Amino acid sequence: MHHVVVVGAGFGGLEFTRALAGAPVRVTIIDRRNHHLFQPLLYQVATTSLATSEIAWPVRYLLRTRKEVTTLLGTVVGVDAEAKRVLLEGGDAIAYDTLVLATGARHAYFGHDEWEPFAPGLKTLEDATTIRRRILLGFEQAERESDPEKRRALMTLVIIGGGPTGVELAGTIAELARDTLKGEFRNIDTRDAKVVLVEAGERLLPGFKPELSAYAKDALQRLGVTVELGRPVSECNADGVVFGGVHLPAKTIIWAAGVAASPAAEWLGVAADRVGRIIVEPDLTVPGHPEIFAVGDTAHVAWTGGRLVPGVAPAAKQQGRHVAETVRKRLAGDAAPRPFTYKHDGDLATIGKRAAVIDFGRIKLTGWIAWWIWGIAHIYFLIGLRNRLTVSLSWLWIYSTGQRSARLITQGAQGGDDEADLPAGPHDARSLR
Ligand SMILES: Cc1cc2nc3c(=O)[nH]c(=O)nc-3n(C[C@H](O)[C@H](O)[C@H](O)COP(=O)(O)OP(=O)(O)OC[C@H]3O[C@@H](n4cnc5c(N)ncnc54)[C@H](O)[C@@H]3O)c2cc1C
Repeated sequence: MHHVVVVGAGFGGLEFTRALAGAPVRVTIIDRRNHHLFQPLLYQVATTSLATSEIAWPVRYLLRTRKEVTTLLGTVVGVDAEAKRVLLEGGDAIAYDTLVLATGARHAYFGHDEWEPFAPGLKTLEDATTIRRRILLGFEQAERESDPEKRRALMTLVIIGGGPTGVELAGTIAELARDTLKGEFRNIDTRDAKVVLVEAGERLLPGFKPELSAYAKDALQRLGVTVELGRPVSECNADGVVFGGVHLPAKTIIWAAGVAASPAAEWLGVAADRVGRIIVEPDLTVPGHPEIFAVGDTAHVAWTGGRLVPGVAPAAKQQGRHVAETVRKRLAGDAAPRPFTYKHDGDLATIGKRAAVIDFGRIKLTGWIAWWIWGIAHIYFLIGLRNRLTVSLSWLWIYSTGQRSARLITQGAQGGDDEADLPAGPHDARSLR
């Protein structure tokens, strides 16, 4: 039977596999993690609002009823396109007839990988719990610190990158300090925490209309966030961050400046754009390899007006569905190329627990109405009734009491620069979303 191998069980790979149900194929889906992750709510794990299990599901469980699908936990390290084999870490190889690469993106530091230990990015559950731990440890250490300068640095949190993730992190961290932690410490007032959002460009949320960017900035400032625009970061270290030539002492720095594609283009030795995405054909095949498709954040796909299809979950899902339909048609004898067309549904970002911005093209919304629409949309896209109920309940609780329950410091309670739980490996960051 025709064997389809899918690398990556994120939004693109999982949607492809789902859409292929009933086709006369055998499918092997490989991921280096055992779970599918709902990345849009990762920032809520990092900021103590949700628990890890509320936004991630075992891939094996999600595909349990699909007898033709085999789920493998493994890291792909290369592709032998000549022999049509996917190469796994440890030496295994898996043969394919059709290959779908849906390996997503990772964060990057504009050539400054040495900043990563001081400014972790947000891409995985491990990243989220590392950031959560650092935020909470900053306050714990400040409670024990008698030197006012050191205490100030411990209570200064800097988020680098003013895209949706940076805005969402900054708003929620400000609320955490202002509402959730208030009154629980004896030597510090958590409301004195300084939350700084640093953006190199001239406005926040550059993908949104300027009036929504301006709204987001005002809303963050109302929450007490200091917004620094037009200030590129030139240094991150154990003592703080330098932006616009000014050094700000800070013990908690979070990198939200964007992402770069997975190394899938390198595996195949094909042309990539400046963030490493495979420049695919209009039908999402890899040039010179009609049996290999690339979808989602790892693919460079042209859109209208000279723009690219954005690196967002709906785009990855639409591409996954498109490729599934192409594979079906090919198996039925129709090999004509089918160009992919992207339909953009809109852009959304929240600012704390009471405001959001939504850009649906002609319709633009701000404030609490936007927040409720954002919330309902995200609940809808979560997988499974149980998660929808628990996340709704967690949000209602936070909304009405300000209390966040996922405030656990795990992986040890020692802070400092010798932390052993930092995400390993080079990461990168340029904006895909
Ligand atoms: C913090 C954050 C917030 C976001 N918020 C939003 C949002 O609000 N709305 C929105 O639409 N989009 C959002 N995005 C973007 C969205 O998550 C991505 O566009 C989407 O996940 C892309 O889907 P994908 O299938 O290409 O990659 P992913 O969903 O990232 O999946 C890639 C999969 O491949 C696996 N993988 C990677 N390399 C290998 C390998 N070598 N071997 C085996 N497996 C591998 C990974 O483990 C992962 O499971 C956000 C992203 C982040 C990081």
